[in-house]
Amino acid sequence: MASTLLTSKHVAYIQSLDTKRDRLDYHLTSHLRLSGVYWGLTSLHLLNHPTALPRSETIDFVKSCYHPSSGGLGASPGHDPHLLYTLSGIQILATIDALDEIDGDKVVEYVSKLQNPDGSFSGDEWGEVDSRFVYCALSTLSLLGRLGDAPGVSAEGAVGFVLRCLNADGGFGMAPAAESHAGQIFTCVGALKIAGVFEKSLSEDQVNLLGDWLCERQLPNGGLNGRPEKLEDVCYSWWVLSSMAMIGKLQWIDREKLVEFILSCQDEENGGIADRKGDVADVFHTVFGVAGLSLLGYEGLKEVDPVYCMPKDVTDRIVWNHRKILTT
Ligand SMILES: [Zn+2]
Repeated sequence: MASTLLTSKHVAYIQSLDTKRDRLDYHLTSHLRLSGVYWGLTSLHLLNHPTALPRSETIDFVKSCYHPSSGGLGASPGHDPHLLYTLSGIQILATIDALDEIDGDKVVEYVSKLQNPDGSFSGDEWGEVDSRFVYCALSTLSLLGRLGDAPGVSAEGAVGFVLRCLNADGGFGMAPAAESHAGQIFTCVGALKIAGVFEKSLSEDQVNLLGDWLCERQLPNGGLNGRPEKLEDVCYSWWVLSSMAMIGKLQWIDREKLVEFILSCQDEENGGIADRKGDVADVFHTVFGVAGLSLLGYEGLKEVDPVYCMPKDVTDRIVWNHRKILTT
């Protein structure tokens, strides 16, 4: 079992993904393509190989997923726009310093049209509602520098919806009264952080309760699960760990055991990281494994921003240094 991060294998694995267009799994994942590029690109930046994907082709691909009429982005060329892929596209362009390649005003317009009267956001025009989409909306606006300047968007309404998703066990769910889940905790805490209202929204007792719920996700094998009674999974190294970082409780995790667990899920032959040991690696678990290791201070990795899941030097440059603090 590998006891170190196999950086050059992971870089080669990510570079190889786009060359497999003739394989069935390439087409089966076309509904994830733009997010896949974001996962791969972010992995490469954190692995300190920021130029391993060609910049101009990356920009061209993002633009091919953009719908100039609505301002949203779809997963692949020809796919309908969705808030998830709109965020992925903006994250990609922000990371490679190319935000001026698409019309930010139109993207803001797309996002604003998806907000509902109760403050929540729908993922697309078909209307599915999930607290994840509040995060996607606020993160997109924030990366565009438009958080306090988005006509038709009520950040106060969005914050109100997120706070209604808070449960008595300390966690957050996808909607009010829905079961707590680590993925939704990441998005809800992240949304409150982006809006600049986390500290005044939760009491110290509530933060401690949330920290307890999160650190109980670590299993005896070192891995983390997403909710009680579930199996460990590398992606929760990100959802759980980033939430703990955001609330200042990262030290509550057994670092050594989690590092060992993530490293054990690497594909030692072909690169990439799987959800758990012995499974097939994919780019989704690769980025969240690498980002988790970055949060744990693993040597040789670039620092990741726990709020945005992007390289910290990028978000420092475009968000934190210029953000408009909301006055809610
Ligand atoms: Zn997973």
